[in-house]
Amino acid sequence: MAGPAKITSLAARRVLDSRGESTVEVDLFGGGMMARVAAPSGKSRGRWEVQPFPDGGVDEAVERARKLLAPELSGMNADRQQQIDEKLHEVDGTDRFSRIGGNTAYAVSIAAALLSSKVHKKPLYQKLAGSGKVRISLPLGNVVGGGTHAKGKRTDIQEFLVVPSKASSAAQAAEANIKVHSEVAQLAVQKGSPMIGKGDEGGYVLDMTTEQALELISSACQTVSLATGADVRIGLDVAASSLWSKKEDAYVYKRDGRKLSEGEQIDFVLGLIERHRLVYVEDPLHEDAFEAFAELRKKAGGTLICGDDLLVTNTARIQQALKHGSANAIIVKTNQVGTLSDSRRAVQKAQSAGYVTVMSHRSGEVCSGELAQVAVGLSCPMIKCGVIGGERISKLNELIRIEEDAEKRKILAGMARIPA
Ligand code: PEP
Ligand code: MG
Repeated sequence: MAGPAKITSLAARRVLDSRGESTVEVDLFGGGMMARVAAPSGKSRGRWEVQPFPDGGVDEAVERARKLLAPELSGMNADRQQQIDEKLHEVDGTDRFSRIGGNTAYAVSIAAALLSSKVHKKPLYQKLAGSGKVRISLPLGNVVGGGTHAKGKRTDIQEFLVVPSKASSAAQAAEANIKVHSEVAQLAVQKGSPMIGKGDEGGYVLDMTTEQALELISSACQTVSLATGADVRIGLDVAASSLWSKKEDAYVYKRDGRKLSEGEQIDFVLGLIERHRLVYVEDPLHEDAFEAFAELRKKAGGTLICGDDLLVTNTARIQQALKHGSANAIIVKTNQVGTLSDSRRAVQKAQSAGYVTVMSHRSGEVCSGELAQVAVGLSCPMIKCGVIGGERISKLNELIRIEEDAEKRKILAGMARIPA
């Protein structure tokens, strides 16, 4: 049995994410091991998220990690996650991680968990899950991308997602989503609607209206569901804060050519849910619309109404949502809140209220798989991690490895399921 995972040193550097933008990477050393984690970055960030980098940007974040964090963390025990995360808050001293940056907090916090898992030769998912069986999170991935994740002619809605609700294994789940992705391309070409390229997360950018894109994807899902039995269903991330115009008091759909009041937006989304059997709708309304979320959720039957920018992985905002009845699912992005302990608290609060927790990537990602480890470890039934592209596939491949490992350890309880 190895001793405690005592941190001996920390290194930090500036690296690049999948969008080619700079981010921070941290190496933590201890117990003869090294854990390396780079932080992903969002483009359609919620207003209530912590600050990703301090004023001065990534260079300042790297400098502060070296100067402020390295000496404080040296000698600490990485097995004590809570103490590490408290130390990050203490050194930062602000309530939004404005001094060290939320992305540095994320990288250090996850690296500590990873270091502990390496020193004790226990996979991260199992360390986080504790004793008992684990389920493999169902991958939710975008086949069409628009909104702020694309440029030029594009759909108004940011993410058209698919989830293989009855997949029997991680590999089958990933492959079903990939098949839908390529079927969408074929159908778009057949309809004479050339693809303009791919969005930041690998979904095709289509010069189509919301309805046209959904019809195309419905047809692709039917074909793939028949061929695979995975019952691939559709979801959306409306990312409605980016459609919301406070000045016009309306949701503005440029490509669709419509401006919707709050009530009309609710009806529009309900219509999409009904016509396309949507199982999941993320951020259907803007990030402060707790009451309108609640109205939609009450009318939406069993469809998952998920808060991302609304909830920002923050327990106080979850509490507000519970008061109103605003959602029944939550996106979990650890760097919205900074640390693993903070996001575990959010997950526990959401799960104990019966929410479906969806561990999520960011649009600017890194090529590693720890997101999948954390998703399974925190018992998230879904992981939103894209469909193709190295930085997305790294999470899907990690799910396949986790499934194999859990099977060997006899702790596998199969694929997770969602109400569908
Ligand atoms: C999202 O809105 O769910 C998302 C992944 O976007 P970003 O990472 O750009 O915030
Ligand atoms: Mg979102």
